[in-house]
Order: sequence, then C-alpha cells, then structure tokens
Amino acid sequence: MDGRGGRVVTGEPGIFVPGALGRLVLLLLLGNLLLLLRRGRWIFVSLHRPIVAFVGELDAWNHCPGCGAPVRPEAGHVECGACGFVAYANPKPTASALIADDEGRVMLSKRARDPAAGKWDLPGGFLEEDEHPLDCLHRELREEAGIGLRDTEFVAVFMDRYGDGPRDVSTLNVYYSARIGEGTPEPSDDVVELRFFALDEIPEDDLAFEHLADVLSAWRQQHS
Ligand SMILES: [Zn+2]
Repeated sequence: MDGRGGRVVTGEPGIFVPGALGRLVLLLLLGNLLLLLRRGRWIFVSLHRPIVAFVGELDAWNHCPGCGAPVRPEAGHVECGACGFVAYANPKPTASALIADDEGRVMLSKRARDPAAGKWDLPGGFLEEDEHPLDCLHRELREEAGIGLRDTEFVAVFMDRYGDGPRDVSTLNVYYSARIGEGTPEPSDDVVELRFFALDEIPEDDLAFEHLADVLSAWRQQHS
C-alpha cells in the first residue's frame, strides 16, 4: 500500500504509475486476497505478488561479470572492488503504439508468449541498445504486424513490471499514437492476432499488463 496508484506523476503527457490502488475501493480481505470493485467489476488481487515481485534485478549477483571477483549488491547497484566494474539497476525501456483506424478504434495484439500469453497487449517491444524509442516502435510494428506507421505522436510514459515471480523486471513503457502508413496488419513474430477494438469494447479483464487500462484511458482523454 504505497499510495502510488494511478496518479499522474508529471504533467500530461507524463509519467503514470500502475493504477491498482488509485481507483480501487477496498471491500473485503480474504486471507491473502483482496476482493475489490474496479470500474464496476469485481476482481481479486493477491497480496502475495508485490512481496515476491519487487526483488532488485541485481540482488542475485554474487560475482563481477567482468573479472569474476565476489561482489555484494547494495542500494540498487553493484561495484566491483577488484576491477572497478559498476552496474546500476534500472527499468527496462519499451516502446508501443496506440494505432487508430478511421472509426476511432484502437489496435490490440494478442500475445503468443509468456508473460501473459493469450492476453491482449498494445503492439510494441523492448528497445535495443542505442535504439531511439521511435525507431523501436517502427521496427516492432514491422516485425509484429507488417505495417509502416505515420503521424506518430508521443502520448505518455508508464511504469510497470514484466514477467512472473521473483525474477520479473521493472519496465518504463513509452507510448505513441499512430496511424497505419503502409501495409495491412498481419500478426507475426510473438503475436497471434491483431484486432481493432472500439473504446467501449476493450477486453479490460483480458489485458496483459496492469498499466494498459491507464494507457488507454490517457489516450482516450487526449483524443476525445
Ligand atoms: Zn570485477
């Protein structure tokens, strides 16, 4: 209960933090489960997950990857006393698209792989080294949907977690609105289906990541 849920941390466009708490009404505590009412729907939330989820990405490091000397992670970084190697724990950056069609519907992609296999996501992916988020966006949409993009416009940045269990990682997710510039969407790579949804038909109970409902909400506000 850290009180970060759902609020805009900076201006708009800005940085959002997962909205688990901000718009939830606490109703029942059942063992380690909370029964909550969110946007008119009943959902269960495990209290166990945050405990196992927030393990630092460097916490399991015992040896320097450069020279093999013993190291001890502390305060989000590792520093090797033998060779001077330093590593900091940071969120992994992603870039994804909110692609609208002529009817104002938004394209979602069904994930082929875990985490969240079979759930609906916004198309995009992780940045490669030295890659600008916009370049990542164009590359990922070519790979996952076979399309070129036009009219890309920054929407917002959202924080979340990616993966299951104690080895999941923190993510910093950059979103752009866009239109299809060339090609017809065909799922490939790690996507099994691409489909446009009207904003009142978004499968909110079947979204891959917690922050996606907030992304769609922010996009809807900017385009209403
Ligand atoms: Zn070293």
